[in-house]
Amino acid sequence: MLLDQLSILVAIGFSGASLGITLFVMWAAGRSETHLLIWSIGLAFIVAGVVVFGSVVEQYSAGFLLTSFMLLIAGFGLLYAGCAKFCTGRTDWILATTFVAVSLVLTSSAFALGYSGIGTIIGNIAIGTLLVLNGHHYWLARAESPLLMTTNAAFCVVTAASFIACGYALADQGQIILTSRPSNWAEEVNSIMAIAGLTGIGALSLTLNQMRIANGHKSDAMKDALTGLLNRRALFDGRTGIAPPGTAVVMMDLDYFKTINDRFGHDSGDRILMAFADVIHANIRSNDLAARMGGEEFCIIMPDSSPKTSAAVADRIRSQIEATIVQTENGPVRATVSAGIAVRSPEPETLQSLLGRADTALYEAKASGRNRVQISGFSLAA
Ligand code: GH3
Ligand code: MG
Ligand code: MG
Repeated sequence: MLLDQLSILVAIGFSGASLGITLFVMWAAGRSETHLLIWSIGLAFIVAGVVVFGSVVEQYSAGFLLTSFMLLIAGFGLLYAGCAKFCTGRTDWILATTFVAVSLVLTSSAFALGYSGIGTIIGNIAIGTLLVLNGHHYWLARAESPLLMTTNAAFCVVTAASFIACGYALADQGQIILTSRPSNWAEEVNSIMAIAGLTGIGALSLTLNQMRIANGHKSDAMKDALTGLLNRRALFDGRTGIAPPGTAVVMMDLDYFKTINDRFGHDSGDRILMAFADVIHANIRSNDLAARMGGEEFCIIMPDSSPKTSAAVADRIRSQIEATIVQTENGPVRATVSAGIAVRSPEPETLQSLLGRADTALYEAKASGRNRVQISGFSLAA
């Protein structure tokens, strides 16, 4: 044998236990990411299975071999459930428990009938299949991070293949009843793959988890907390050069909002801001960008637009706001909004310049009576 099997099992046991503890501590820190807890419990089962398998290496016993497989199947079943939760947001308990239950029944039935070799083959195939299912989830989720997810899927499939090879080697040798622990080329490959797979999948999954947290923080930093629309910073993010032809910028500002705050209270003012954001959200296309610029001022950037279409959208929002009644503790409140629009001229123009023109048009809309839409360079539109 290339390597002493007991030493390899000790290595697998310790690396699995360390990974399990790391995952558990990470879960305990936030208690929201249940996949971390499920993974850590799965690893506890796997480590227990490896310890029991170690005793089989010392002295063969069919009972201990079966116990080891039962712990391993349950452990890999939990890893699968955690993986489903991580990749899809849903823990696939029905598939996970059904698959584990059927595998346990088949494996233990074969052992009970005295066919320890067949039981071992079934156990290995069950673990391999659970790993393939893991890999399938990572593969389907590869859009989130193509390189990491695909590498993780590949690790799962290669490790799965090493378990299935253990079953194949026994079948190939016709070992339907074992009298000593399985020992062949596939077992050696499997021991190495167990260490490589455990380390690789563990490290990649932790990296993916941290990346997801970082992306979540980034997206929170781009959002306005009150309305859920983009904030000013996000609106300008990466849009410094010449605006594409057909870009329309709509600046909107609630009328006499200070008076509303003074009369109805700041909380009521906040509710109007949220209602305003909802109306904007309901009236824009998926590729339009809507942001709260600060206070009661909002901006919409519409690609591939025209003075006519952008004015129609702005006026629809204006009339819907006018018709919206927000119920507050201090009675019903209505608000109106003024809007200024600038559409990119045939000459190259930056987003900053468009915003400046839209702002001037907004000022004109305010000056000429409010509750109206003004297009830069045009006469009153509403
Ligand atoms: P105009 O028609 O000229 O736009 O008058 P206005 O009163 O809307 O404008 P002004 O700039 O005088 O007042 C804006 C008010 O918006 C003042 C400020 O208290 C209020 N405001 C800014 N941010 C918030 C917020 O987050 N929540 C609430 N409730 N009010 C806010
Ligand atoms: Mg205002
Ligand atoms: Mg204002």
